[in-house]
Amino acid sequence: YRSKCMRGTVSIYNDNWGVEAAERVHLAQALRNAIESQGMDLALQPLIAMNTGKLTGFEALARWPQTDNAPISPGVFIPLAEECGLMPMLGRWVLQRACEMLQDVAPDSDLRVAVNISVLQLLDVDFVSEVLDVLTLTELPPERLELEMTENVFASDVEQIRNVLSQLREQGIRISIDDFGTGYSSISYLLDFPLDTLKVDRSFVTALNSGGEGIFSSIIALAHGLELSVIVEGVETQKELNSVIRLGGEEVQGFFFAKPMMLPELEGWLIEHRDTSFDIKQKFPFVS
Ligand code: C2E
Ligand code: MG
Ligand code: MG
Ligand code: MG
Repeated sequence: YRSKCMRGTVSIYNDNWGVEAAERVHLAQALRNAIESQGMDLALQPLIAMNTGKLTGFEALARWPQTDNAPISPGVFIPLAEECGLMPMLGRWVLQRACEMLQDVAPDSDLRVAVNISVLQLLDVDFVSEVLDVLTLTELPPERLELEMTENVFASDVEQIRNVLSQLREQGIRISIDDFGTGYSSISYLLDFPLDTLKVDRSFVTALNSGGEGIFSSIIALAHGLELSVIVEGVETQKELNSVIRLGGEEVQGFFFAKPMMLPELEGWLIEHRDTSFDIKQKFPFVS
């Protein structure tokens, strides 16, 4: 394994690779600084119950604001953090900030926050106690925390992962599989692992516009057969929403309802929707 984070191990093959590597070193250093000095932020994106149209919680999404340039997307800095050993620090910050933000914007509610967890965090021996410490510190009930992980956890040390997930779930924390259908699941893992929710990847929603209904309903049936609830990710249009409502699932998330929002904007959004006590039926009249 050739680290792309350190000088000296690169630019052996060609100059382009060298330039890219130098940029990555620079970027990794900047990321470390941001994590260590309050330079990171978090956006929350609402999750909506399909049967009532009500807000049920949020997904927390890491943000790395830049002073002069456009923000760097998590699709870039999360893999960078993983490669450069920054994931434990970034992951811990995200987890704590997510719980704090939920307590800030929705104290004494049953709204939950879903936090993306890298497989590297799950393999850390201190992970379970770190999560429990954060819950204690922020006084958030475990039922209000959900941990999202992608199917690549099944390509890792499955015994250890199963063990960690069992400990978390015994505490009441919910576990979900993110981007479901794009990765490495086998049905036997879905049966064996202590899970609560499958998040159907946005690509299956996009496919609904071109005959993808069969596979979409099959995924819902599979999830329900395994007694897992379903969150449909990435609903952008009324047309997509109509299909999704017809095909089922417990919750939806997507730009159609709200994009991920950082604190000031999120507070505004909540004020607007608090009038209907988080009931968004009026605004999205798709429920009876
Ligand atoms: P994800 O966990 O699947 O998060 C959903 C992504 O879809 C988010 O992108 C969100 O902004 C985007 N999204 C939500 N609704 C829609 C929609 O209607 N249409 C479209 N086109 N996109 C929508 P984002 O924030 O850029 O994050 C990308 C990925 O980066 C996440 O995918 C997740 O895998 C990773 N990520 C973000 N924050 C964290 C974090 O704190 N920890 C870890 N380990 N990964 C994170
Ligand atoms: Mg996610
Ligand atoms: Mg996802
Ligand atoms: Mg994704």
